[in-house]
Amino acid sequence: MMGFALPGLELPVTKTSNCLLAPTEKELPPNDIAMACIRCGMCADACPAELLPQQLYWFSKSQEFDKAEQHNIFDCIECGACSYVCPSHIPLVQYYRYAKGAIREERAAQAKAERARLRFEERLARQEREVAEKEAKRKARAEAAAKAQAAKPAVAADSAAAANMADSNAASDSNAELEKLQKQFDAAQSALAKTKEKLEAARADESMADKLPLFESALNKTQDKIKDLAKQLAAAKKAAKAAPAATSAATDTDKGDPNSPERLKRKWETAQARLDTALKRLAEAKEQGLDTVDALQTGVDKQQERVNEAKAAYDASVADGAAAGATVDGSSASQATGAQTADNNAADQAANIEALNKKILAQQDRVAKMQERLDMAKAEGLDTVDALTLGVQKQQDKLLQLQQELAALAPAGTTSNEAS
Ligand code: SF4
Ligand code: SF4
Repeated sequence: MMGFALPGLELPVTKTSNCLLAPTEKELPPNDIAMACIRCGMCADACPAELLPQQLYWFSKSQEFDKAEQHNIFDCIECGACSYVCPSHIPLVQYYRYAKGAIREERAAQAKAERARLRFEERLARQEREVAEKEAKRKARAEAAAKAQAAKPAVAADSAAAANMADSNAASDSNAELEKLQKQFDAAQSALAKTKEKLEAARADESMADKLPLFESALNKTQDKIKDLAKQLAAAKKAAKAAPAATSAATDTDKGDPNSPERLKRKWETAQARLDTALKRLAEAKEQGLDTVDALQTGVDKQQERVNEAKAAYDASVADGAAAGATVDGSSASQATGAQTADNNAADQAANIEALNKKILAQQDRVAKMQERLDMAKAEGLDTVDALTLGVQKQQDKLLQLQQELAALAPAGTTSNEAS
């Protein structure tokens, strides 16, 4: 009574097979067509587990599995006694097997969903923990840098006035750079938090499922940007620490003039060294096929601009020095003093105009790239649109300032970038 009817003879015997029965049709006639339950109660009388088979039948048939569980369906040993005695020929045990299978599937799906929920919550908690740890480390570094910065003026108070002026100029440059990077870092953190919120909302709402890849991609990009900014911030802080030491080790002439050829040359060499490092990282990323290639390429482009600017400033400074030397020599000459000075002034002006033209070209390039990034951010609907708009405005202001400097320096019609 507990077995299954086999559909044919081409079937194997397995480890779990108890026995094979081969009854005649007289001994075990084929099932007749099931009829309606007449509530005779014969199944309940026959049940060795003292269950209510007719109730279990109704609940299984109407898929009220919770009620079937309340009537202890899992206590049924599937002996088949109820089906055997049923005068309506109802295949009761098959109904119970179906109900038990459905209940097990439902439990498995619930357990799976619960595991996924826990995993997701733990992942979010871990990410928040990591962000908090990074923020704590950043604050600790900032405090240490501030303490070191505060201690330096006291030490520098014993130095000469010219050295103090040079140190303060370098420190203000470094602080401005640090402040700028810090603002970018904070904006990126804010964008990351907003993107996370959107991603969670999209995960919770099935109608936004198609936007999940977009949000995940934006999240990864923002995380990469934060990593990059954190590195730049650390490098800027290191440079800010090293700058005063380098300044104090320099010569007196170098201390007094932040635009001296020596300092501008060092600035150029430092920028070149950073460019080499960035190129090396880009090559490694390309080899390994990482998704940070685009970000690194952008960094390389920016660093190349800095190198070009530093080199232009150094060349202009060297040209200034040569012109000034020529002016001194010319002034010592007795007859050609006036003419020589006029020539030197013209050479100074030409060198300055050339340097400004180079700066304007680099600035125009920077504005165009920033505008391109802004357009992309607008097209993708990213949260960085406001920050980028602000950045474009700042770069345009700088460009305007350079053009005004050039207009003031150069006579009309002698500049190459004024019109543009
Ligand atoms: S034996 Fe069959 S007909 Fe009688 S109560 Fe049980 S299920 Fe209904
Ligand atoms: S199959 Fe289940 S409900 Fe039917 S008699 Fe056996 S134990 Fe009772």
